[in-house]
Amino acid sequence: MTDRWVWRLHSTQIYTVHSAYSYLTTVDFNITAEFNQFLWLKAVPLKVNIFVWRLFLNRLATKDNLRKRNVLEVSNVSCAALCGKEEERDHLFFQCDHYGRLWLLISNWFGIVTVSQGNLISHANQFCALGGFSKKSRTTFTIIWISVLFVIWKDRNRRIFQNQIEHLEALFERVKLQTYWWLKANFITFAFDYPFWRQNPLHCLQTVM
Ligand SMILES: [Zn+2]
Repeated sequence: MTDRWVWRLHSTQIYTVHSAYSYLTTVDFNITAEFNQFLWLKAVPLKVNIFVWRLFLNRLATKDNLRKRNVLEVSNVSCAALCGKEEERDHLFFQCDHYGRLWLLISNWFGIVTVSQGNLISHANQFCALGGFSKKSRTTFTIIWISVLFVIWKDRNRRIFQNQIEHLEALFERVKLQTYWWLKANFITFAFDYPFWRQNPLHCLQTVM
């Protein structure tokens, strides 16, 4: 008999989004309460929430993880942004010279001057508190934080798999547009047009905080 794929989380043995979501949200993967606030946000699409969950578990297919599984040669683990360093999670998202400039553009957009932390937990806690410590403020900044991470990941994948290189300004615009739709769809008081959001992000966020 030839091999075939079987989805063990549903009685039909066929993949369903619902069964995957139930599994991901109910099984204890040793994620501590410290991370919970960054996971499973209602305003963020499911596939992006799964991306964040895998990021915290360090289970993304970054080159160092692929190297550990012998998928990649040791000579093939350099950062997709061509900065010359090895690609691993904290480097790619928080330490890379190239993508670090995107974080700088984002904080400038909010008119905030800050020195970013270089690892996942510290960066998450720092960035998501930029607007203050109220629950709503943390949520809205977490939405933006997640958007930047997802834009970096998609750009990294386009570089590797499609050989496409985009300017940081284009990535910056993707974050602005993505966060606009996520916020608009989830906060009734976020009633601004797109040009106003691009020009006055902090003012817009304050109305939903
Ligand atoms: Zn890099």
